[in-house]
Amino acid sequence: MHGSPRCSPLFRYTRGITKLERHLHPISLSFIIFLHICIPISLYLIYFYGLSVSQIIYYISAYLLGGFGITLLYHRVWTHGAAKLNKYVEFFFAITSIFMLQQNGKIWIAEHIKHHQHTDNKEDPYSTAHGFWWAHQNWVVYSYPYELPRLPKRLENNKILEFQSKYYWLLSILLNIAIPAILAISANAPWWSGVIISLARVMVCNHFIYGINSICHYFGTQPFSKANSSRNVWWWIFTLGEQYHNYHHTFPKDYRNGIYWYDFDPTKWLLKLLTLIGLAKDLHKTPQEKITRAVAEQR
Ligand SMILES: [Zn+2]
Ligand SMILES: [Zn+2]
Repeated sequence: MHGSPRCSPLFRYTRGITKLERHLHPISLSFIIFLHICIPISLYLIYFYGLSVSQIIYYISAYLLGGFGITLLYHRVWTHGAAKLNKYVEFFFAITSIFMLQQNGKIWIAEHIKHHQHTDNKEDPYSTAHGFWWAHQNWVVYSYPYELPRLPKRLENNKILEFQSKYYWLLSILLNIAIPAILAISANAPWWSGVIISLARVMVCNHFIYGINSICHYFGTQPFSKANSSRNVWWWIFTLGEQYHNYHHTFPKDYRNGIYWYDFDPTKWLLKLLTLIGLAKDLHKTPQEKITRAVAEQR
């Protein structure tokens, strides 16, 4: 055994732990508690100081661009190879993904590969085997020492992924602390109010994403497969399209998660738009016969 068993998904700097033990990670726990405390305080700060137009634009952009950074780039393009992106677009979303503070791309991808390989089992980082709250958030505040798998071959020597992972925490401070602090000062509010509101925004957005691993594995329908606990939850709409999680687990390489025209899947629409204007290519689409067959087998 090498490395410290005290590392956690939030502060995982060490690797190679083989013994499966869980430990509450005090730094991660304190950080998460602090981020939650920021939520009510930020409501008071907004009531007291208000928000300037530039602050409103910043917070909405942080949610949308950070969200697409995770759903479009981390998830569909990097992890599952559902499409290829123009390098400038890839770099742009690699940077905006940091608004979500979901760990650097390399760690996120490795953990998500593990989630698909071992869904619902103990090797799944956000496994339902340990209950709803583990799948939702507790996995982040406990250390759960497991070997992370190698990244897919197509990501080896990806300079954008390397750069983003190397400077992740530095860029996090710039995007999630320095910029909102400057915007607060320019709106005649104290700098720290911008930081508190920003950290509250990070926590709320993270709950949207956590819900994919909890809500979308507990509630909803299983029209495509009952092989694991993944479910389509149409009403979990804050995830930019990831709520069609049963389809995604059945056909993970598909650039779509919501396959019907009425499905609310902005990530699919954005990938399609980027393709139309020449900034993305090779969208992977599951053949319709395969989908029809999967649906028929569930009846
Ligand atoms: Zn899942
Ligand atoms: Zn996935």
